[in-house]
Amino acid sequence: MKITYGELLRKVCQFANVLRNHGVKKGDRISIYLPMILELVIAMLACARIGAIHSVVFAGFSADSLCERILDCGCSLLITADAFYRGDKLVNLKQIADEALQKSKDKGFPLKKCIVVKHLGREEVAADGACSQSPPLKRLCQDVQEKKTESSQRLHPKIPWDPRMDVWWQDLMSGASTECEPEWCDSEDELFILYTSGSTGKPKGVLHTVGGYMLYAATSFKYVFDYQPEDVYWCTADIGWITGHSYITYGPLANGATSVLFEGIPTYPDAGRMWSIIDKYKVTKFYTAPTAIRLLMKCGEEPVKKHSRKSLKVLGTVGEPINPEAWLWYYRVVGEERCPIVDTFWQTETGGHMLTPLPAATPMKPGSATFPFFGVVPAIMNESGEELEGEAEGYLVFKQPWPGIMRTLYGNHQQFETTYFKKFPGYYVTGDGCRRDKDGYYWITGRIDDMLNVSGHLLSTAEVESALLGHGAVSEAAVVSHPHPLKGECLYCFVTLKDGHDFTKNLADELKKQVREKIGPIATPDYIQYAPSLPKTRSGKITRRILRKIAQNDRDLGDISTLVNPGIINQLFNDRCDTKL
Ligand code: AMP
Repeated sequence: MKITYGELLRKVCQFANVLRNHGVKKGDRISIYLPMILELVIAMLACARIGAIHSVVFAGFSADSLCERILDCGCSLLITADAFYRGDKLVNLKQIADEALQKSKDKGFPLKKCIVVKHLGREEVAADGACSQSPPLKRLCQDVQEKKTESSQRLHPKIPWDPRMDVWWQDLMSGASTECEPEWCDSEDELFILYTSGSTGKPKGVLHTVGGYMLYAATSFKYVFDYQPEDVYWCTADIGWITGHSYITYGPLANGATSVLFEGIPTYPDAGRMWSIIDKYKVTKFYTAPTAIRLLMKCGEEPVKKHSRKSLKVLGTVGEPINPEAWLWYYRVVGEERCPIVDTFWQTETGGHMLTPLPAATPMKPGSATFPFFGVVPAIMNESGEELEGEAEGYLVFKQPWPGIMRTLYGNHQQFETTYFKKFPGYYVTGDGCRRDKDGYYWITGRIDDMLNVSGHLLSTAEVESALLGHGAVSEAAVVSHPHPLKGECLYCFVTLKDGHDFTKNLADELKKQVREKIGPIATPDYIQYAPSLPKTRSGKITRRILRKIAQNDRDLGDISTLVNPGIINQLFNDRCDTKL
């Protein structure tokens, strides 16, 4: 299906009126828990129009994660959908949302309204977008997951419904006016909160404001993708992450771009899905994640080459370091060596691109995010807080603010200062390691805090440990990152058990399920190893550095003299999980 800018404005106004009719006013927080459908964009923009602060929660998160986010920002209303398909898997979103609302009520925070988009069952109408005509009108095209023939065979589950609380989106919209006076906001008023993993295990509510964020999203979109009015742009990220906020919703729309909104997954119904969409809509600028590139690379060149891709001009990547092999495949096979690749390094906190090539202007090196974007001043620090010059490796920091920098962590300004500005006073600390080569190119080496990046999604090891500890059999847990050929990194967990519990395949499966339920499927551990005890320092600190080596079967352990129980190390090496459970 397609929507023009004029239609989008009218729908945004209608939904803004709906929100106002429900008593929503400037500064109120609204949680949005939706799949990749147009209503997600409409709901975000409707919040922005009336000065409400949206908190979009990725629709792959669990009820616990949604509840935690609802409580943290004290939102007054939830917007969700009945259900949706991810590939051929049905996700009963409303049921998960209901569980979250029940949990939040049990914790003394009952919400009064839940607006539900009726999504399932309407795909038959939407399946055939007409966006491939030329020249393209300014519009947003939604490419729905299902194909016409398949949709009739799909399940339509029973949607749990509480008439006192739940109300259909479509019913509310049908009577709403298409005109809505915007709320006038200050440039520093809040625009949205987006949660990202924190090394303490509790997600941090990153807060972005109206003026600086939008300026930065719009400007970086324009220059990094060399946006031209005739372009058709497609970013495959989910809007539940910052990439979707900045480079699906705000950046492209602020530039009046024609873009594609995709509800599906790259391998459904087959590994040619991305390339067929590129041909269908004549996509010129394409932005995806290294994990997707590696996945498609595994499927070989044939599904790519079956499609023409001749419309493509610029290719982008984001989310994690891209290995040179995947970069070269993207460049040679997908882009046929004629499309520059923009490897964009940035974070939820930065609002927009920080290190990135400019297409056709910056000589590329496969795997390097190259140089800073306009106005960005990076530096590399050593542990003692000294700035390193020339070729160097250390902590990546930024020396001066930029318009899109987050303004605070919602409700916790002190944690904001401690997390980002305390280690090196006067600098913004990214938490990433970085190398600068002799030509001045920056190479991100990965996180150097207790975070890991699974398929481009940042997770904290503490968050997963606390989910494991929630299981009655576990007395201690330590989680480390482990290299993974497709996901980049994956979770390798060590657990010690309470007396009376045996480590079995069943228990390992239960623990995986526990993590999925507490956080969501993206956090499912790949390895769970039983540990009779964990290596610790005399002060009782678990040495994750050593556990990481054990997981990777690397016996070069360095100094272990500070350990109170060095004897456990050999046993942990012997019991390593060599194959996935
Ligand atoms: P998030 O805030 O969830 O977007 O995750 C930000 C983190 O993802 C960064 O701190 C990096 O560790 C990683 N990251 C994002 N983009 C890149 C990139 N182009 N190259 C290397 N790492 C990246």
